[in-house]
Amino acid sequence: MSAEIIDGKAIAAALRARVADEVARVKRDHGLTPGLAVVLVGNDPASEVYVRSKHRETQAAGMASFEHKLSAAVSQDELLALIARLNRDASVHGILVQLPLPKSISTETVINAIDPAKDVDGLHPQNAGRLAGGFPALSPCTPLGCIILTKSVHPSLEGMNAIVIGRSNLVGRPLLQLLLNENATATIAHSRSRDLPKLCARADLVYAAVGKPEMVRGNWIKPGATVIDVGINRLPSPDGKTRLVGDVAYAEAAQVAGAITPVPGGVGQMTVACLLVNTLRAACAIAGLPKPAV
Ligand code: NAP
Repeated sequence: MSAEIIDGKAIAAALRARVADEVARVKRDHGLTPGLAVVLVGNDPASEVYVRSKHRETQAAGMASFEHKLSAAVSQDELLALIARLNRDASVHGILVQLPLPKSISTETVINAIDPAKDVDGLHPQNAGRLAGGFPALSPCTPLGCIILTKSVHPSLEGMNAIVIGRSNLVGRPLLQLLLNENATATIAHSRSRDLPKLCARADLVYAAVGKPEMVRGNWIKPGATVIDVGINRLPSPDGKTRLVGDVAYAEAAQVAGAITPVPGGVGQMTVACLLVNTLRAACAIAGLPKPAV
C-alpha cells in the first residue's frame, strides 16, 4: 500500500486565495484593511526567513504588513513599549512576536502584554484558556493548519482516535483542544509517555510534533491511518548542504499510512496561511463585523 500524499502546498495556496477574496470584500464593503505587525528581535537566520515569508504573504493577500526589527540588545521594557503602541494602533489587527526571544527577555511577559484581541499566534493565556474551555478563540496557526489538512482527507473527525506526540503550548496542547472540538478521541504523548508505538498503533490520526528527526517509525502506524508530520529538522546532506526531514520516518510510514503529509510541503505551508486567516478574523472581530467566510 502507498499513502495518499496530502499536498500542503496546494491546500495552503487555496486557503490564501480564499483569504485574499475575503480581504477584498471587507475592504470594498467596509473600508477595512486588515493589518499584521510582526516583531523580530535579533537576527536568527531561521526567524528572518519566517518573517520575510509572513511579510510577503500578508501583502499578497491584500493586507497591510508592518515589520518591526529590533536589535538583540533591545531591553524588555523597550519591547513592551512597542507592543503597547501596537495594541493602541487602529491599523494593526494582529500582533505576532517571532519566537524564540533572546534569553534576557521573558517570553511569558511579552506574550501576556499582547492585546488578546490581536493575539494572532493564539498564545495569550486568555486565548489558550478560551480554547481549552471550548469557547471561540484565536488559536495557534500550526495546529489550525493540521486540522485543515486532516479534514482534506476526513471531512468529519468525530469519534476518530487521535494521538498528538508533543505537548508544547505552540503545537501539541492547542492541537489536542482543536481535536476535542472536532469530537475526536484525543490522547497526548510526551517525553515521559510509556510505549509510544503501542499508543500510536490504535490511532486513526497521528500528529508528530516532537522535534526529533524521523522518530515515529513506519511500524508504529496503524494501516490506513492519517499521519500529519509537524516536525521540521535540518540534517546534513551528502552534498555538504542540509536537508529537511520531519519527525516521522516518511518512506516507511508512507508504506503503511492511508494519507501522510510530506516535509517540506505539508504542515509548514499551512502555518502562514492560517496566520492570514487569524489576522482577517481578528480584524473583523475588532471592527464588529461578522466572522469572515474562511
Ligand atoms: P518543543 O516545544 O520542543 O516540544 C517538543 C515536545 O516533544 C515536548 O512536549 C516533548 O516532551 C516532546 N518530546 C521530546 N522528545 C520526545 C520523545 N522521545 N517522545 C515523545 N515526546 C517527546 O517543540 P514544538 O515547538 O512543539 O515543535 C515540535 C516540532 O515541530 C519541531 O520540529 C518544530 O521545528 C516543528 N514546528 C513546525 C512548525 C511548522 O510550521 N511546520 C511550527 C512549529 C513547530 P516534554 O514536554 O516531556 O519535554
